[in-house]
Amino acid sequence: MSRRTTPLYELLLRSQQYIVYAASAAYIVYALLTALIDPPGVFPVAYQVPKYWAALFALATIVAVAAAPHRLKQLYVLTTVGYLLATIVEIPRAVSYGAMPMHLTLWLTLNVLVSFVVFGARQGAALIAVSVAVMLGALIVHGPLAPPQLSDWVTVAVVMGVTGIIAYTLMNFIENNMLQHAEDSEKLRAARLDAVTDVYGRGAIEEELHHAMDHARRINSPLSIVVADIDHFKQVNDQHGHAFGDDVLRAVGKRLRRNVGGIGGMVGRWGGEEFIVLLPGVAKPDALVLAERLRREIGDTPLAGLPVTASFGVASYRGSGDTPDQLFGRADMAMYEAKRSGRNAVR
Ligand code: GH3
Ligand code: MG
Ligand code: MG
Repeated sequence: MSRRTTPLYELLLRSQQYIVYAASAAYIVYALLTALIDPPGVFPVAYQVPKYWAALFALATIVAVAAAPHRLKQLYVLTTVGYLLATIVEIPRAVSYGAMPMHLTLWLTLNVLVSFVVFGARQGAALIAVSVAVMLGALIVHGPLAPPQLSDWVTVAVVMGVTGIIAYTLMNFIENNMLQHAEDSEKLRAARLDAVTDVYGRGAIEEELHHAMDHARRINSPLSIVVADIDHFKQVNDQHGHAFGDDVLRAVGKRLRRNVGGIGGMVGRWGGEEFIVLLPGVAKPDALVLAERLRREIGDTPLAGLPVTASFGVASYRGSGDTPDQLFGRADMAMYEAKRSGRNAVR
């Protein structure tokens, strides 16, 4: 399964947690209910007591998982080991008792289900195989079984087997879907990025600009954009080659991103050597300060070993009636003013 954290993956983690709670709680409720229903003396203590231990164990599982949900797998390994040890102790008891205790059936079945949910189809199947082997071993060692008891064990085997097949099939389906989903969202993410610079591509950043403007209009909040164009970039290409030019573009993209990522800004490549920075929630005075910082960030230290400067134009949203095209137009015009004033400037 993909380790990438997607909302779907988070959802699966939470579902695993809830299913552990549900199965453990079901067992506890079962232990309490049967304690109330069964008249005292009908079942010997030897039959009843392991049920309460198992219920306590289920309670401990709930508490441990609630305290450290991110350790779910490790915790459930402990639970499974506990169940396995209990099975080894319980089976000779069940054999000598002469009938299959229902609580053993219930916990074995719940454990099959939860193992698949927590460990996934493959590891779950391996774990169930080990559990079944341990169970069969204990049965063989403590056998032979009389026919009525044998038929109890056949029932348990069928219930566990069917539960296992259903759980395995479902988990397999879920895992394949998760994988597909992770691949799809990775492709979607890659498709939104510019191949050279790793900032948003033209389509994606234009879309984001529209979103940001809609949002600003809806909640009446400020929004600024900064357009940045590298100075004399043609010379960089001419003197150092196109590949080196690409390195410079990458470095510019990286510096822009580094400086606005923390405040929720978004960087995109508008085309050629022209970038755009979206600054949701930022009003003009702050945007000018920020653009000045970006100018220094690019111009003050060499990029890919070469001194490079850029010219910046800032524009801010003017309220309803203002359109993305107009906003961009004003920023672009400001950027050309910066060029006219001698470049390496903010307007
Ligand atoms: P100014 O200071 O006026 O902006 O001058 P300039 O040379 O930067 O502007 P101009 O628009 O004349 O040149 C832009 C150059 O950017 C032209 C083109 O060769 C180069 N360019 C556009 N896209 C890419 C790219 O993806 N990679 C590289 N290496 N160069 C590119
Ligand atoms: Mg340029
Ligand atoms: Mg240009």
